[in-house]
Amino acid sequence: MGKIYKALIISSKNEKSLKIFNPGYLVISKKGIIEEVSEKDLRKKYKNHCFHDFSNYLICPGFVDVHNHLPQYVFVGIGEKALLPWLEKYTFPREQKFEKKEIASLSAKLFFNDLTKNGTTTSLTYVTVHKAATDIAFECAKKSKIRAIIGKVMMDQYSPKLLAERTEASLADSVELIDKWHGYNDRLFYAFTPRFAITCSWKLMRGIGKIAAKKNVYIQTHLSENIEEINVTKKLFPKCKSYTDIYYQAGILGPKTILAHCIYLDQKEVKLIKKTESNIAHCPTSNRFLMNGIMPFRKFREENLSIGLGTDVAGGYSLSMFNEMKEAIENSKSLCLFSRGRIGQTMTIAEAFYLATLGGAEVLSMKDSIGSLEKGKRADFLIIDHKQIDPMHGKGDYQEPEQILSRLIYRGDRSIIKDVFIDGEKVNRE
Ligand SMILES: [Zn+2]
Repeated sequence: MGKIYKALIISSKNEKSLKIFNPGYLVISKKGIIEEVSEKDLRKKYKNHCFHDFSNYLICPGFVDVHNHLPQYVFVGIGEKALLPWLEKYTFPREQKFEKKEIASLSAKLFFNDLTKNGTTTSLTYVTVHKAATDIAFECAKKSKIRAIIGKVMMDQYSPKLLAERTEASLADSVELIDKWHGYNDRLFYAFTPRFAITCSWKLMRGIGKIAAKKNVYIQTHLSENIEEINVTKKLFPKCKSYTDIYYQAGILGPKTILAHCIYLDQKEVKLIKKTESNIAHCPTSNRFLMNGIMPFRKFREENLSIGLGTDVAGGYSLSMFNEMKEAIENSKSLCLFSRGRIGQTMTIAEAFYLATLGGAEVLSMKDSIGSLEKGKRADFLIIDHKQIDPMHGKGDYQEPEQILSRLIYRGDRSIIKDVFIDGEKVNRE
């Protein structure tokens, strides 16, 4: 049976503005597709639909997290003031443990459950170099009902002994996973996942580029995150003009490529990203937590680059996209303050919300099906008890929808998310 939900509905219109229905009616077919959104009372028009009155609640699209690491969740919140020592101290030893299926299974179950608890309905996720652990991650994602793009990490040079792969085996394992999972139920997809240039040979990256084009799968990697990392990378690839040029020459840039961080790009690198229609995962929490830097959001926005938000757990300390939106705005303010920029250059509330929803969908080539609440799209949405974080519980002033959204970003967390829906179906969160 179809359903109608009545609530304050907030969704993105474009990167600058919101679409607000106060209150609105969200009509969903039994197949989980949005049939109509309107301020008009649609109960008579859809009289066979079941009506749910959430007048005291807010409905918004589910969040899209375009960069995170499943195995790292266990040490979330534990930082180090530099990326490379952090990888050595925490990340690599932890990822080695994913050889054991029990650890991989427990971790994946917990991770996807907590993602949906935080209102994330679509996720782009790294696992480890292990084929079995990645297969388990897909199984757990399938059970959790989340929409996810998942990839087995690839690293065949300058890697810790226990994680280093043989090039051919790394490619063959990935292909096996692609054939099994890419497109599963139209909800699970595969991303080739070369960790970053340092740990990937030319042969590996070229192989990825060729197969990805043939199989139409995603590619996710890290780019220009940290000064020390950039220096090591340049030494390893002396013939390339820049860090971005390595990926360009290897043939792994394109509309289905998602590059995390992109903090220190020069103008030529920005042009390469634009020319290849590659996408950026902006990870402001992680960028500051690991003291990497601040990505110049406004500059990239003016270049019309495609940008979404990534929690980068555990480089970032939280799976919450409320937190990620807040950090994105606060990071942009810091950059503005220290560069004596104009206030107008800081990220707005509407822009942060766009990045966490429709912008993320654009980054994942899913803009036509998710990211906003519009006719014909899949019904991925959240019911939020926003009055909980209002000191006056909705009875005082400051009840304009834009003010409510600002309060959500600055004061919201997973405790105010009442229900999560993916394809119109309520997700069970333990
Ligand atoms: Zn990362």
